[in-house]
Amino acid sequence: MISIKTDEQIAYMRKANQIVRDTLNLLRDHTKPGVSTYELNKLAHDYIVSCGAVPSFLNYNGFPASICVSVDCEVVHGIPSKKKILREGQIVSYDCGAIFNGWQGDAARTVAVGLISPECQQLIDVTEQCFFKAVDIIQAGVTRLGDIGHAVQSHAESFGYGVVRDLVGHGIGREMHEDPEVPNFGMAGRGMRLSAGMTIAIEPMINMGTERVEYMDDGWTVKTQDRKPSAHYENTIAIFHDRVEILSL
Ligand code: MG
Ligand code: MG
Repeated sequence: MISIKTDEQIAYMRKANQIVRDTLNLLRDHTKPGVSTYELNKLAHDYIVSCGAVPSFLNYNGFPASICVSVDCEVVHGIPSKKKILREGQIVSYDCGAIFNGWQGDAARTVAVGLISPECQQLIDVTEQCFFKAVDIIQAGVTRLGDIGHAVQSHAESFGYGVVRDLVGHGIGREMHEDPEVPNFGMAGRGMRLSAGMTIAIEPMINMGTERVEYMDDGWTVKTQDRKPSAHYENTIAIFHDRVEILSL
């Protein structure tokens, strides 16, 4: 069931998403060779709590940390660890969620560790562009879910990249994952129409090589099947009758 939010409810979601945005900026600023993903998780956790919010990922279906940290070929859901030390040339995806006054925020960024290859930088840039290609076409009462998927997919595939099929964006509100599912692939003109008061997370997960992914034995980490790098870019958005607001930007 899709829940339509009031302006007051969206205001709470705006606050939750601003906390998420600020946490991601903090993580970006602390990304450097030699730092462990455990330290980054602690930094994010302490910041979210200091804002009077709750880190939504911690214990979500048993997830053991407050953020997901996914390096290079890890697509999503990487578990922070003292043993995982960032190295020059890697790319690292941070996915973060926070609950403020019962309302959810969710966003993700991929950033460079030191100096990275032009190929990795392009992957990061195009993944971010995919999100904005989708947001640019959204009009309440007009745009369909398939239009969003098509916008992301066509941009990513024009660079020869693989669009992850197994994991998708989602509605968000009191719960982190609400209806509808928001795939990063699809056909224009198909699927449900978006309407004013809907809040959704659009989150392209784009692979340098194959779109196929594999699930690791830790029960969480998702990697590309060919072990080539993957990037992730996500924001929570609110759809109004005359505009779209990106709540986590
Ligand atoms: Mg999400
Ligand atoms: Mg997320």
